[in-house]
Amino acid sequence: MEKKQELLMVLNIISNFTDGLLFFDEKDRLVLINKKAEKLLDINKKLIGKKAIELTDIPYLETIIGIFLSKQNLQKEQAKINEKTIEVSFINNKGTLIILHDITKEKMVEQMKNEFVSIVAHQLRTPISSIKWTLKMFLEGSFGQVKQDQKKYLEKIYTINERMVELINDLLNIARIEEGRYVYKPVPTNLINLIETIIKQFKEKAEVNQINLVFEKPNFSTKIVIDPEKIKLVLQNFIDNAIKYNHKGGEVFVSLKSDKENITVSVRDTGLGIPKEQQKRIFTKFFRAANVMKTDTEGSGLGLYINKELIEAHKGKIWFESKEGKGSTFSFSLPLQKNNNKIK
Ligand code: ADP
Repeated sequence: MEKKQELLMVLNIISNFTDGLLFFDEKDRLVLINKKAEKLLDINKKLIGKKAIELTDIPYLETIIGIFLSKQNLQKEQAKINEKTIEVSFINNKGTLIILHDITKEKMVEQMKNEFVSIVAHQLRTPISSIKWTLKMFLEGSFGQVKQDQKKYLEKIYTINERMVELINDLLNIARIEEGRYVYKPVPTNLINLIETIIKQFKEKAEVNQINLVFEKPNFSTKIVIDPEKIKLVLQNFIDNAIKYNHKGGEVFVSLKSDKENITVSVRDTGLGIPKEQQKRIFTKFFRAANVMKTDTEGSGLGLYINKELIEAHKGKIWFESKEGKGSTFSFSLPLQKNNNKIK
């Protein structure tokens, strides 16, 4: 193909590309803008040759330029432009290529899916709570003495129902998180007291599973600005997993560490561990490792995903170390400085 023909073809592709494209040279001068970008940004003026800084008063384009000029090493960002949700990607190579990908439809489908999950979960919550309370009354003898074998089956149904309650709560939490309507109420909290309360809640479960649950209580005090209900959820999930994915006679240790900037809470167990090749997927939604699925078929794979969201909303970090067959340590750290600790 001749050079001129080749150039025409490339220009044709760029011009008609389904994503919006803008290219700024190394001096931040706009050298290319395709039809789709003009349409998305509602531009009808000739802007080629202008410097980025001169484009900051053009409506819609101003948002993109704002992101472009404000940061280095940009990769991807979402922006609301002209009622649309646009994924803006930046590729730096002898200038900057900006790609505008319209994800309005995807966002809408995602929102509909979240709303659907949220409505279903809400609708299920009421009948499931009624089942719970009725079963409880049966078990407590409110409708007359229940026979031993009847009690055994009622208890089984009660446990299954409790799992449904947990699943519904997880789904509701996920819908809230993903719609950005999870309300955080940060208050100064004594983390040690919070941990002690949770440990107490798990004493019975640990005993039933023959697990030695130990709180390695530190000798320093821990007042920290957090939303205690959310951090409680994180710890409950860590401890629940450490008991669930453990062997009879196993151990679970909860410990706290603090330096000037952070406070770190860890839950260490002597349980099943996580297969190495699956470790990088552990915080993704619905993920469950192969080794636990063999013995425990009930989990939802939602707890750790929720934990990650909750800790990151506190500007904290979450991580784990694990060896299959030996055990795992799940940890999170929270910033101590009040100013850093502005919850999302
Ligand atoms: P669930 O426990 O309902 O499956 P989670 O999101 O809490 O969901 O955990 C996801 C997966 O991570 C678990 O299914 C399990 O494979 C693995 N996992 C989490 N905690 C532990 C642990 N302490 N020991 C071994 N595996 C764990």
